Order: sequence, then C-alpha cells, then structure tokens
Amino acid sequence: MKALRSLLALIALVIGVMVLSSCGSAPATPASTSSSSGNQTGAASPTAVSGNRFTIGIAMPTKSSARWIADGENMVKYFTEAGYATALQYAEDDVPNQVSQIENMITKGVNALVIAAIDNKSLSEVLQTAKDKNILVIAYDRLIRDTPNVDYYATFDNFQVGVLQAQYIEQALGLKEGKGPFNIELFAGSPDDNNTYFFFNGAMSILQPYIDKGQLVVQSGQTAVDKVATLRWDGATAQARMDNLLSAYYTDKRLDAVLSPYDGISIGIISSLKGVGYGTPDQPMPVITGQDAEIPSIKAILAGEQSQTVFKDTRELAKVTVQMVDAALNGKEVPINDTKTYDNGVKVVPSQLLVPVSVDKNNWEKVLVESGYYTKEQITQ
Ligand code: BGC
Repeated sequence: MKALRSLLALIALVIGVMVLSSCGSAPATPASTSSSSGNQTGAASPTAVSGNRFTIGIAMPTKSSARWIADGENMVKYFTEAGYATALQYAEDDVPNQVSQIENMITKGVNALVIAAIDNKSLSEVLQTAKDKNILVIAYDRLIRDTPNVDYYATFDNFQVGVLQAQYIEQALGLKEGKGPFNIELFAGSPDDNNTYFFFNGAMSILQPYIDKGQLVVQSGQTAVDKVATLRWDGATAQARMDNLLSAYYTDKRLDAVLSPYDGISIGIISSLKGVGYGTPDQPMPVITGQDAEIPSIKAILAGEQSQTVFKDTRELAKVTVQMVDAALNGKEVPINDTKTYDNGVKVVPSQLLVPVSVDKNNWEKVLVESGYYTKEQITQ
C-alpha cells in the first residue's frame, strides 16, 4: 500500500514537472499587476489567454499620417477581440518621447511590446530592459536595428514596394519599349528608417538599368540614397527639396517622373510642381508614385495629380501581429514566412512579410472600396 502511494506521488510529481516546464516555454508570463487588465487570476496559465490577462504595449510613431492611426486602431481591435488588454501610444516623431513611452510600458508590466520605431537605432537600451524582464518584442512594420532583443518582425515585402513604384514609372513612360530619354528625380524616405533602403533599392533595381542606358536622366545627378532621403518622411522637407531641384535644373526642361516613396512626400512634391505651373493640360504633372493609399492621395490620383500609390492593408498587418504575439506568449509556433531578409546588424529577425499592392486610377475602387478599407464616399466627397 505504502509502495503504491509512493508510486502515485511520483507520477503526480512527474506530471507536475511536465506541466510547469511546458508553461516555462512561453517567453513571457502575465504581468502581476496591470491597471488595465480586468480578469487576472494570478497564476500563469499561458494556454488560456482570455479576459485580458496579458497586456500588450503598442508604440506607434506618429498620428500625422493616417496609416499609423489605422495600424493602432486595428491592433487595439484585434488584440481586444483576442482577449488582451492594450496600451497604445503615439510619439509624434519624437525619439526621446518614444523611448520614454516604451519605458513606461515596461514599468507598468506589459507582457509584450509591439513597436513601430521612429529611429531604428535608438531603442537598444530600452529593449535591454524589456529583455531583462522577459518581455516579448515585435518590430512592427519597421525593423529595429542593432539589438539582439527583438524577437519577431511583422511587415510587408518592402523591397517589392519599391519595385511596384518603379514598375509603374517604367510602364507609364514606356521604358520597356525603349522610349526616352525622360527626366526623373528620386526621393527616398527617412534615413533612420530601415524600410527606406528596402524601398529605394527595390525601386532602383528597376530604374538603374534605364539610368545607365540613358533612357532616364536624373538632371540633378542626385541618385545616392543619402542625397535623396527625407528626414522623418516630412512632406514640407520634400517640397523644399523639389523647389530647389526645379529652380536649379528644370527652368528650361520638363520633369517627366518623380520616384516618391510615400504619399505625404508626394503631396509636398505636387505642391512644389503646381507652384511652377505643372498640372495643366499644357504642362501635365510628371508620373508621381507614392505609398500607403492615404485618402488625400487617392483623391489626388483621381484628380490626375498623383499617378500611383502602394496599398499595404493595415488590417492584415495588425491581424498577423496579433497572431504572432498570441502564439509567442503561448509557447506555440509563431507564424513567419521569412528567415533570411531582415538582418538587423546583430541577427536575422524572423519575419512575416505581407504582400503590397499597386493602386492607381484603374483599380482603386476594387482594391480599396470593395475590400471595405474605405467607403466610396470617403474618396469621392
Ligand atoms: C512605412 C511606410 C510609411 C512610412 C512613413 C515606413 O516605415 O513602411 O508605410 O509610408 O514609414 O510613415
């Protein structure tokens, strides 16, 4: 009898150890205190994440662009639906502000951080603190560089974004058919955003051969990414650069195309071009690209001012991010589809890449309205 009891005790002990060690495989455990969590039971039970027992800190860069507002809203929606509490903050493109927002999230005991960095190299210290507290870190849309403490990356195929922009120019100008020479100027995004280089390299993979052949001419000679970058993706900065280019190189020449990486930059470029008389039947706008399918830019596309944009469905990005966080916090296999592309200087960060879509006057309704991203009235009114 005694022997049987000892055996039963041993079995119970083994099962207990197995359960505990499976709990331990989750990279983070629920915060012991979290002001916004409604239903805490204390003990970690990583497989039953409901009732807001995990809190997710979401650090977004700025509200000055509609896409980031949509990203934040979509994440809060999907995390909440999945039973998580959220703390969402915007840093208005101010780097120290973003660092202190993340510090506060860590202090409040979040279990995971989802971060769209303003400056991709400014977070090493704060992410070391996160790592020390066993907090899961997801780089959202923008890779965080120079730190081992980023677990996963959720984004779009950023190289392809640039390819889509450049292919649009290629097609609109008939470059494949050998037409030219055409004048083009190049713009890139913020130098502290890793995406900037992917977008630009993607675009140049298409455009450079035409520049080499003389079918495309950059009158300013400014073709290096550091020469054409736009700090913080600022439309006014782009507008000022376009003003300078137009007065220095185009007083007696037509500008035929502008590679623009982002709708907000395109708006600045368009306003500069209008200032010197482009946008009339005699002097139509150059081919101008963009990114994010923001409403003012879809309107500009319909008005014949901007030519194209790249739509990245923030609903999908938010959804996969929630899936990644949910899997990681529960010790399950995290959905990723790329383990090669995104080296952050310390390690290759396992990534989930979504597919960007080129949008112009021919497909905006199908891509943006039929998918329910916008209503038709938002665009046409
Ligand atoms: C994003 C783009 C956005 C840009 C400016 C990039 O990191 O990938 O979608 O246009 O930042 O906000």
